[in-house]
Amino acid sequence: MTTGFFWDERTFWHAGGNYAFTLPLGGLVQPLAAGGLPESPETKRRFRNLMEVTGITRDLDMRSADMASRTELERVHPARYLDAFKALSDQGGGEIGHHAPFAQGGYEIAALSAGLSTAAVRAVATGELTNAYALSRPPGHHCEPEDAKGFCLMANIAIALEAAFAEGHIKRAVVLDWDVHHGNGTERIFYDRDDVLTISLHQETNYPLDTGHLADRGAGKGKGYNINLPLPPGVGHEGYLHALEAVIPHIEAFKPDLIAVACGYDAACPDPLCSMLATADTFRQMTRRIREVAEAQCGGKLVMSHEGGYSEIYVPFCGHAVLEALSDSKITAEDPLAEVFRIRQPNDRVTAFHKELIDEMAQTLEST
Ligand code: ZN
Repeated sequence: MTTGFFWDERTFWHAGGNYAFTLPLGGLVQPLAAGGLPESPETKRRFRNLMEVTGITRDLDMRSADMASRTELERVHPARYLDAFKALSDQGGGEIGHHAPFAQGGYEIAALSAGLSTAAVRAVATGELTNAYALSRPPGHHCEPEDAKGFCLMANIAIALEAAFAEGHIKRAVVLDWDVHHGNGTERIFYDRDDVLTISLHQETNYPLDTGHLADRGAGKGKGYNINLPLPPGVGHEGYLHALEAVIPHIEAFKPDLIAVACGYDAACPDPLCSMLATADTFRQMTRRIREVAEAQCGGKLVMSHEGGYSEIYVPFCGHAVLEALSDSKITAEDPLAEVFRIRQPNDRVTAFHKELIDEMAQTLEST
């Protein structure tokens, strides 16, 4: 088996305005010393650096990719959105949508980010690689066809899947989004479709504030093909694994040709934007489990597309754990915070409460 890793240094050069969390600066919000967006290159660059230091790159097929083509982008984004984005990018940068700033050349970098996901999906869908990881930046899952949001400028996974559909490699796909924020963009794009099952596990009303409800199950022929599990703050390792188990029967019943994971790490304990308690081992175990499902359902065709995750220290260890589980590499990166985060897990009573809540939501999904 071969696991691909798609990345490009240029995606680390994406820059944006100065934000404090998601607050634009001004008034009483002092500019940050580091001068920037929480969606900084450092989480990604340190992940990539850790891979180099441990040597796991030796067990992966390391690749870059071309920018997604205009035709590929237009399958998801209208020409007027792309034209406006490109014009502003050429003029030196700015901001489109909400919380989605970029500097000069941001358009090309966003198209490259989408291109990395697209190439990863294509290589796996055609059987050239067993599975793959796309270190796409900027992320994609908040971006709607005409509305950039939450650091996301192009809908990377949707663009990738549409290419695989158009090229005839797949007919049905699952998007499993375990970024801690709701995958509103992916949901919107496929909301009335029955060939893509979209699933989002997220912290309830974190971002966006008004989306990601349990009752939002899709529309028209897409009815029943959208699943949201809005989780309360504080869900830890066991709760996350339980939430994943709750949605797996839906994936199995759907019988996808490929599973794409919107792989964010902002559900991790130290993340500054969210309030969950997952650990690097949580991401390792979730990856093992979804890989098992992919192997049983669709010949192991599984693609991870990098989304959020804002702890510069911890994202690299979470990402490394995912790569170990994807590739069966024996090269490991021991989590230096494992013991601290083990102690911080919710106690048994709270975990039991979280599981009960998840079970209740799973029952509601069965009946809707
Ligand atoms: Zn996120």
